[in-house]
Amino acid sequence: MSERSPRAAIGFDIGGTFVKAGRLSPEGRAEREEQLPTPSQEGPEALVRVIDALFRVLNPEGADLSVGVGCAGLIDAGRGLVRTSPNLPLWKDVPLADLLAGPLGVRPAFLNDANAFTLAEWCLGAARGASSAVALTLGTGVGGGLVLDGRLWTGRNGFAGEIGHVPLMADGPLCACGARGCLEALVGASAIARRYDKLAGGGASGPAGKGITPRGIAERARAGDAAALSAFAETGRYLGLALRGVVHLVDPDVLVVGGGISGAADLFLPAARDAMRENLMHPPELAPEIRPAALGAAAGWIGAALHGLNPVV
Ligand SMILES: [Zn+2]
Repeated sequence: MSERSPRAAIGFDIGGTFVKAGRLSPEGRAEREEQLPTPSQEGPEALVRVIDALFRVLNPEGADLSVGVGCAGLIDAGRGLVRTSPNLPLWKDVPLADLLAGPLGVRPAFLNDANAFTLAEWCLGAARGASSAVALTLGTGVGGGLVLDGRLWTGRNGFAGEIGHVPLMADGPLCACGARGCLEALVGASAIARRYDKLAGGGASGPAGKGITPRGIAERARAGDAAALSAFAETGRYLGLALRGVVHLVDPDVLVVGGGISGAADLFLPAARDAMRENLMHPPELAPEIRPAALGAAAGWIGAALHGLNPVV
């Protein structure tokens, strides 16, 4: 990472439900956080108004600050274009950086949200000090990012690290991307609910597993529900298979697991660790540590702010 400039920065994380924003001090300290609902079913003007309102709250003195924005989907970071985003389904090829430059008085730097998460955990969180790291976010979707040889690796088109759509099982369950057997279709939130429903004998979690969240299943597991414990252990095994692939491909210093489902890490990480180490070509003690993410839900806006300070793509 290049030397950090002595400025504060504001980061935005455009999520499906909320736009989270915060101010990062020049020393990398999260100083203040705010959020407003994402106008996900509206056009760009509504989101520009939301981001502008958050910016004014976080920068009341009108200081000269760096600004970064993270968003899910296909982001053209160099041109500040949101090509497509699951959080903004009506948008196509929107030049959001240009639209924000006027109201904010500064052109923000853009980054995919999983890359923002990875950057934050690498610079200030669980992978701090590592020269290589692979970070995963587990939630409704499964995202990821790569740090290779001391820099964020985003690939030729900016979507490197999309581990959620690495195929793991031929003819496996259907994924949101349209393919079958992706990691996301095996360890994402709906996969865990479906697995629990099946293990509990069907119908226990509502129609087709839609009535219960991973958080609810985790509560049942901690209360001793055998089906809930098995659902997380099986999920951990699939995650571990994918991580074994990652280790063979990248051999990183550290693996970081975050996202909403990582609140249940104690229930699936032991199985993931075992599956990762099993049949590793190298002695298992050479496998990297799997660390829970350290920055929680703030990682998205913190990574965007870091990118605003020192654009990495
Ligand atoms: Zn997929």
